[in-house]
Amino acid sequence: IVHLPQPAATRIFVVANQKGGVGKTTTTVNLAAAMAVKGLRVLVIDLDPQGNTSTALDIPHSEGTAGVYEALVEGESIDALVQPCPAHESISVLPASIDLAGAEIELVSLVARETRLDKALQSYLAESEDAGDRYDYVFIDCPPSLGLLTVNAMVAGREVLIPIQCEYYALEGLGQLLRNIDLVKAHLNPQLAVTTILLTMYDGRTNLSSGVANEVRQHFGGEVLDTAIPRSVRISEAPSYHQTVVTYDPASSGALSYIEAAREIAERADPKEPRA
Ligand code: ADP
Ligand code: MG
Repeated sequence: IVHLPQPAATRIFVVANQKGGVGKTTTTVNLAAAMAVKGLRVLVIDLDPQGNTSTALDIPHSEGTAGVYEALVEGESIDALVQPCPAHESISVLPASIDLAGAEIELVSLVARETRLDKALQSYLAESEDAGDRYDYVFIDCPPSLGLLTVNAMVAGREVLIPIQCEYYALEGLGQLLRNIDLVKAHLNPQLAVTTILLTMYDGRTNLSSGVANEVRQHFGGEVLDTAIPRSVRISEAPSYHQTVVTYDPASSGALSYIEAAREIAERADPKEPRA
């Protein structure tokens, strides 16, 4: 296998879009799997109480399972909470259980409520690096809202990846998302940037899909990956087998497109490095 280049420092992606069903979770788990099969070390943080990311990566997350809730609300160290992904030894997962649903409210009254994930993640990444086990990529899968969980992700992350579903109304709500990102950038995390837009559920046979894709490319230009993820039954079947499409059907168009998207991401300039 051809490995992907390792970044100079850990790259932390926030996969965000407050619309549900646009492909955040699918993108998180499949990019993680694609990076892993290409030789990179990945941490996946499931910030959605539904725990779909944990399911797709085959991580137990029934009610009461310790995970991201304990890190955020109880201040436990992430090191004690991550679980190995059975299918990929280079992926670790900080799972979410339904207990996380309460965190959105509980966080309101806690000190440093917006920066709790950032603190926990930074110390975990430093420990991992000291132990000679550095992560190349972190993907944080956000819930479909712009509440405190998503704000915590945006404070902890450096790059925002926005999946956009190639459907009618795809661009609705994007203005609100971008304004929220600007607010976090202005007040809490100056390093945050939207670096990556990924078109999902693309159906080249319909005018609608190509129309949305054109509109997104016109609006965002260079941030949009050349690779669009096709609408594919194999992609939607994989989670019911607790798999990503990358392992479920490695030769499928869905798997190949996520591997291609991962390659584009890995080969793009790291925004923390000065541009040539
Ligand atoms: P989100 O996390 O944004 O709510 P999901 O990743 O869970 O969105 O995707 C919503 C639904 O669409 C899921 O059932 C998922 O399996 C399906 N899906 C996602 N991407 C694709 C795709 N490219 N082709 C077909 N189905 C997809
Ligand atoms: Mg999701």
